[in-house]
Amino acid sequence: MNRPALLSLDDALPELLAKAQALPNMQSVSTFDADGCVLAQDVIAALQVPPKDNSSMDGYAVRAADCVQAGAVLRVAQRIPAGTHGKPVNAGEAARIFTGAPIPQGADAVVMQEDCEALAYDQVRVNKVVPVGQWIRRSGEDVTRGATVLKRGTRLTPAELGLAASIGLAQLQVSARPRIALFSTGDELVMPGDVAPEAMPAGAIYNSNLFFLRAMLRRLGCEVTDLGIVPDQRDATVRALRDAALSHDLILTSGGVSVGEEDHIKPAVESLGELKLWQLAIKPGKPFAYGHVNRQTQGDVCHFMGLPGNPVSSFVTFLLLVRPFVLALQGVTQTDIARTEMTADFDWPRADKRREFLRVKRNAKGGLDLFPNQSSGVLTSAVWGDGVVDNPAGQTISKGDRVRFISFAEWLA
Ligand code: AMP
Ligand code: MG
Repeated sequence: MNRPALLSLDDALPELLAKAQALPNMQSVSTFDADGCVLAQDVIAALQVPPKDNSSMDGYAVRAADCVQAGAVLRVAQRIPAGTHGKPVNAGEAARIFTGAPIPQGADAVVMQEDCEALAYDQVRVNKVVPVGQWIRRSGEDVTRGATVLKRGTRLTPAELGLAASIGLAQLQVSARPRIALFSTGDELVMPGDVAPEAMPAGAIYNSNLFFLRAMLRRLGCEVTDLGIVPDQRDATVRALRDAALSHDLILTSGGVSVGEEDHIKPAVESLGELKLWQLAIKPGKPFAYGHVNRQTQGDVCHFMGLPGNPVSSFVTFLLLVRPFVLALQGVTQTDIARTEMTADFDWPRADKRREFLRVKRNAKGGLDLFPNQSSGVLTSAVWGDGVVDNPAGQTISKGDRVRFISFAEWLA
């Protein structure tokens, strides 16, 4: 049998993303619940933040011209706590003012109370020279009216929710959550909880992939339907795919995409739509399938992605390919993940012809340690590690070399 040519990740990913048109549906969610959602519309400010010039200190609002020498004595003519607004400040006057309160007309600076001395008969001595503008937060210095403060396609984090609230938005228009049908293939798989460890039949293993795939999809804002374990049979696989396609945007499977004869995914998807089986030039994670299932009733398609069965292969290919895909379905414009240059504290003497994603951990010296077993079945490597080294094809690594690191914390966020 001819070995198919390996496809590079840099060729595969753009081809994949070209298929990931943003889903049309949007929904309005409470700003409270929008963490992790993707904005479906630009957010434009209808007011200035802060709305008015205001004091950034507890102290006295003054006219700087009255305080050109230390020791000026002014009459405290009013008191302006935050939430109120004062009346004009005349020459020779000061206004007692508190952080956040608007600067009254006539005043052009604030003196902090530590630089003042309260005197009898409502007077205050200002013990410093006061420059114009001191301790004033300007109107609009955070947000100006009419500005686009958040762009469509932004994945919201807590800071963005606060900013949206600061311009008065209790609801945000976000992309609908992609609906993902997840199933596992393989007759050897047993669900944890169904069979106790001591009662596991020969040849059986627990279904671990489902657990991290489901969790990762949820983190990416997807609604996940768990279709369980589909038996290694053509008919059962076709039925599961056809049903799932009706009410989902993407069917994601793990296992069954190698070219073994127990792998039923390919013929099953092909009978309902189209499938490309890719041999990716990455390690772990060579086999990967992309295609679609036609929806007879709706005249459109449901995306299909098939991940390899080996747990670390499944994990890594998810992050490399499925993650950007489901983000793109939500309209996210920036889907790639940052690589940081770091120093390897290990040797990797055998170059591979595939681009490798080596599980590593940052050490106390600021370098990277390598997990000793890089086998695609050893999920412990992904738990021990806090990221991967993205190592180009054909590249060895010697202690002290600079390498490209991707942090799981960022990748899984
Ligand atoms: P496959 O891609 O179906 O040939 O599977 C490759 C390897 O991954 C085999 O050793 C499978 O038993 C294992 N595997 C497949 N699916 C899972 C899963 N959901 N959880 C854990 N291991 C799996
Ligand atoms: Mg299998």
